[in-house]
Amino acid sequence: MQIADGKVVSIEYVLTVDGEEIARTDADDPMEYLHGVGEILPGLETALTGKKIGDSFSITLPPEDAYGDYDEEDIEEIDKSDIPNVAELEVGMIVEVEDEDGYSYTAEVQEIRKDVVVLDFNPPLAGKTLTYDVVVKGVRDATEEELEHGHAHSDWDEDEEWDGYEDEDEDSLDRA
Ligand code: ZN
Repeated sequence: MQIADGKVVSIEYVLTVDGEEIARTDADDPMEYLHGVGEILPGLETALTGKKIGDSFSITLPPEDAYGDYDEEDIEEIDKSDIPNVAELEVGMIVEVEDEDGYSYTAEVQEIRKDVVVLDFNPPLAGKTLTYDVVVKGVRDATEEELEHGHAHSDWDEDEEWDGYEDEDEDSLDRA
């Protein structure tokens, strides 16, 4: 079965930035996603299209195909008096900030000054070139519910669901 829109795909990957490994999936816990809905980075999704179980490849995504350029304008100074738990903040911490309309954003605490806290709202990987080494571990049809929801349902805590999927996976390997 080839990867196409409407398939639930599981992959193992190693993510490298500037020659340094910064993330990898656990060997027994691949990442599962619904193909074709933008659940993963578009560049990675395009590279996976048409691949099948056992295929492996490496892809390098420049910032424009990943998390965008680093934007100096996305750095903001917030008055300490506007931050309820300001005493708990430390440089490097990731915090969630809600705007007046109730939208929440994550930001990294860049600096703590006398009266203000400097927050960096850029995604942590903004401005970075990402290299993914990918192995395709599974491809299956999405369920009606998954298509409706627009994401894969892979609750690894629910044994029943996992057993069903594992059987399917073995079947498709036998057929190959
Ligand atoms: Zn859902």
